[in-house]
Amino acid sequence: MAFALDPTLDFEQGPIRPPSEARSLLLRFTRNCPWNKCKFCPVYKGRTFGKRTVAEIKADIDTAAEMRRQIIALSWSQGEGGKVTERVVSAVFSDTRLSYAFRNVAAWLYYGTGAVFIQDANNLVMKPSALAECLRYLRQKLPEVRRVTTYARSSTAAQRTVEELKMLKEAGLDRVHIGLETGYDPLLKFMNKGVTAAKQIKGGRNVKAAGLELSEYVMPGLGGKKWSREHAVHTAEVLNQIDPDFIRLRTLRVPPRVELYRHLEAGEFQKLSDDETVAEIRLFIEHLEGIHSYITSDHIMNLIESVEGRLPEDKERMLAILDHYLQMPERDRLRYRLCRRMGRCRDPRDLDYPGVRDELEAALKRIEAQGEVEEILTEMADSMV
Ligand code: SF4
Repeated sequence: MAFALDPTLDFEQGPIRPPSEARSLLLRFTRNCPWNKCKFCPVYKGRTFGKRTVAEIKADIDTAAEMRRQIIALSWSQGEGGKVTERVVSAVFSDTRLSYAFRNVAAWLYYGTGAVFIQDANNLVMKPSALAECLRYLRQKLPEVRRVTTYARSSTAAQRTVEELKMLKEAGLDRVHIGLETGYDPLLKFMNKGVTAAKQIKGGRNVKAAGLELSEYVMPGLGGKKWSREHAVHTAEVLNQIDPDFIRLRTLRVPPRVELYRHLEAGEFQKLSDDETVAEIRLFIEHLEGIHSYITSDHIMNLIESVEGRLPEDKERMLAILDHYLQMPERDRLRYRLCRRMGRCRDPRDLDYPGVRDELEAALKRIEAQGEVEEILTEMADSMV
């Protein structure tokens, strides 16, 4: 008889994780964002920041460990030898009484990534000794854990000493994801990001000096038409002084629930077109010099996902992909944009697969018969936010 899983087991999880943490176990150490004022950010609006106690966090880790124990017991009872196989994970997912967290633990064991992402927006705001205690407990209770990552704000990373960050590394933290967004001070101020370029450099350098991996998010399009060039060039200059392990692109979208939308409606902020955003990314990458970061564009909002590679050796290849798009005939650019927003293309050369152009052309004609193509493409992209 199959081992019975306990449907009352649950632990707290937050709303988001980076795309690269899709197969990670999610544990919430703090709730929401202690800043919560960036004009472009929809994530934690209307929610209040709160620290969780060490006891609460440990209780969640205990629950995750108990879920793990029960899932492995289920595996033995199914004759799977303690391995979390497709059969075991299917049994967990098909039991609708089980919490989302239970499913997350099962999927995590199934994928075997050993990765844990701790939520929400800025766990470095925790007292370093308390955070270290939770990290040690996590490593002790879940033997599969091989990598632990968190989001953090640059300003908090700048306030932490390298010794404090080293202590976190020794306690089990591996990587910090920071939303840099831009390195241009007037834009940081306009967007109410609550940090300066100088602090971003200090925060990023502190993280690196502690031996932690650093992932910096950049937001193409954030400067709008007015500051596109400054945004690209100054952001590259800031990153050139940090040399993060990863630079991740996540293109701006402006849904009605963010404050920036009001500036957009009032005509005080003009969004870049897709083509202008690609040109901005080109300018940004062109200005990255003397660093060894790995660039990724794996966010669904990015028009060209294949812009990915290690600096400096892949720089020319990445620029060539962007140039390829910019030099395509206008109709092909439109076809590609539609293909991307349909979730079917990731590289402009995907248009060259047999039949793809014709299929997209037919779809475009149907859209043109219905109304304004640009509006429909924007709606398709915004629906992915
Ligand atoms: S600091 Fe990050 S999570 Fe907080 S409001 Fe700004 S962008 Fe959003």
